[in-house]
Amino acid sequence: MHDFGAILIVSGPSGAGKSSLIKAAKEQIGDFYFSISTTTRAPRKGERDGIDYFFVDKKTFERDIKAGDFLEYAQVHGNYYGTSLKPVKKALKAGKLVIFDIDVQGHAIARERMGDLITSVFVTTPSLSELERRLKSRGTDDGEIVRKRIQNALVEIEYMTAYDFLIINDDFEKALDSFIAVAKAARLKKGRKQTLSFINRWRES
Ligand code: 5GP
Repeated sequence: MHDFGAILIVSGPSGAGKSSLIKAAKEQIGDFYFSISTTTRAPRKGERDGIDYFFVDKKTFERDIKAGDFLEYAQVHGNYYGTSLKPVKKALKAGKLVIFDIDVQGHAIARERMGDLITSVFVTTPSLSELERRLKSRGTDDGEIVRKRIQNALVEIEYMTAYDFLIINDDFEKALDSFIAVAKAARLKKGRKQTLSFINRWRES
């Protein structure tokens, strides 16, 4: 049963440490495919096209929406973000765990479309003031953008109830241990279709 793919969705306010957790867990959760999103936001210092995101303009993004290229997409902080369907399907077929770092709107859409393959985890700071402190000290976004991110976090936090797991990123090492456990469990999640085909094979063998 172990070669069926599954999806792990990681959400939470910008600055809560989602990317750091995914990076730090890399060696310990086995082979996975990180879904590189497409966005219309400008690259931050150090971000590279095709590695952190596919950076495109609004026109291109809207053309891709029309072409049905996205499994889900949403507007976050005034920019488009979306998950391309094709590479996800390919990775699932290859039996991989696919990790999405997407917002709460994207989580809701993906759940509707592929719910039985999805495990989800919401990562947050212990408090709003700690989030503010981290966003400011990160220094990658200017004041106005930090303000937008805080505003968005206040709304996002309400969607936490829709997630399977919650990780409060206070002590990073502890948060990392929890994240690894969640990712390992996510890999074991089986979709209905895959389970039915296993049952058929099991009966015949
Ligand atoms: P950032 O600009 O900090 O990289 O990301 C802003 C927010 O957009 C984060 O909450 C991140 O999880 C979310 N995000 C990134 N990629 C996607 C995507 O493909 N779809 C959706 N719905 N949200 C995304």
